[in-house]
Amino acid sequence: MEKIASLAKRRGFIYPSSEIYGGIGGFWDYGPLGIELKNNIKKEWWKRMVYQREDVVGIDAAIIMNPKVWESSGHVAAFSDPLFECKSCHKRFRADKIEGNSCPNCFAKDNFTEPKKFNLLTEVFLGVTEPKQKAYLRGEITQGVFVNFKNIVNSARVKIPFGIAQIGKAFRNEITPGNFTYRSCEFEQMELEFFIKPNEKEANKWLQYWLNERMNWYLSLGIKKENLRVREHEKDERAHYAKAAFDIEYYAPFGWSEFEGIHHRGSWDLSRHKLTYKDQQINEEYTPWVIETSGGVDRALLFFLIDAYCEEKERVILKLNPSLAPIKIAVFPLLANKEKLVSKAKKIYHDLKAADFVCFWDDRGNIGKRYYFQDEIGTPFCVTIDFKTLEDDTVTVRYRDTAEQVRVSVSKLKNFFKEKLL
Ligand code: ATP
Repeated sequence: MEKIASLAKRRGFIYPSSEIYGGIGGFWDYGPLGIELKNNIKKEWWKRMVYQREDVVGIDAAIIMNPKVWESSGHVAAFSDPLFECKSCHKRFRADKIEGNSCPNCFAKDNFTEPKKFNLLTEVFLGVTEPKQKAYLRGEITQGVFVNFKNIVNSARVKIPFGIAQIGKAFRNEITPGNFTYRSCEFEQMELEFFIKPNEKEANKWLQYWLNERMNWYLSLGIKKENLRVREHEKDERAHYAKAAFDIEYYAPFGWSEFEGIHHRGSWDLSRHKLTYKDQQINEEYTPWVIETSGGVDRALLFFLIDAYCEEKERVILKLNPSLAPIKIAVFPLLANKEKLVSKAKKIYHDLKAADFVCFWDDRGNIGKRYYFQDEIGTPFCVTIDFKTLEDDTVTVRYRDTAEQVRVSVSKLKNFFKEKLL
């Protein structure tokens, strides 16, 4: 984990938030490469969950909603974790993070306070005059979908079964933020709420379907099979809204950890918001059930980084799937002080950028160091313009994972990369 955190900071993926003021626990900033990786994860998710389907539409709801939403949804009453405080070192822990009866920090035995319920919702205060109105930063993005259910049914020509997809920020007062970005207080979720007819047969069918679909998405983007597993929640582990719940877990350096939750929410949310659906096909009004897939963008980013990290002799390589790689092609003139090489390389660099490839220009240091730098940030291809280029208009293309080099003619370069990257 230290290696990942150090690479993430050194190369501009992730920085501690407001670091020059000492940082703030549980908050992180994404740097120039981090934002590219994050955008690529979201793009791939949206492509698979919305664009490639006929039964899902998207939405982007506000972060702050009428506080009644959170009362109706049950979050004000039940969105809480039991908190224990160690009387010796005064550190606080979530009940499920304490193994046996000793403090995970100072190892004092049997010295905890009675458990307190600790609500995870983050309060904010709105308005300019006192008393200000209390509201909440959303603790999950899900409720924004439910409160818009009627709007979407009335405006988007959808019929059951159908889904509503959303990506956006959520906030939780986590008792123990940690494991780098794994548990943060501000994070992004990517979720699908899939509305179905209210019966167990349908629910089981769609639960299985979405579980497979989500597992396949992670596998298709290169997560190693042996690092993924599905775990069903015990009854007492489920959130207040769930009739059944499965976690897709990743084998992180800190143990098997939740990547994404697949939940059978039944009619919990729509009935709490008093919303129903008129099924024109059978001329019946009912409260649909919901199967939810709820993943974290930040957790996905962290696990994609961990899974892609690899060391080969003195080389560190981030073997990211090319569709996720922040930079797709790096372009180098062999020597920075040879005008003809530099101007030819600049032209190729600008042509590739104009063809919508995310490119990186580098003319510093020697060519070997430039390759190593690109390996470390996961760039799948490097293009070097050398003296042979000036003679026969070909360039060297180097593959990240194998370090294999091939000559490609400049006129065929765009198609070469289109085939491999788009
Ligand atoms: P955990 O048990 O790890 O606290 P959870 O079961 O409370 O997670 P959900 O409420 O199901 O999580 O949220 C759905 C997804 O949102 C999670 O699978 C995770 O990817 C992401 N997520 C939840 N809480 C956090 C957090 N504090 N930091 C980063 N991502 C989070």
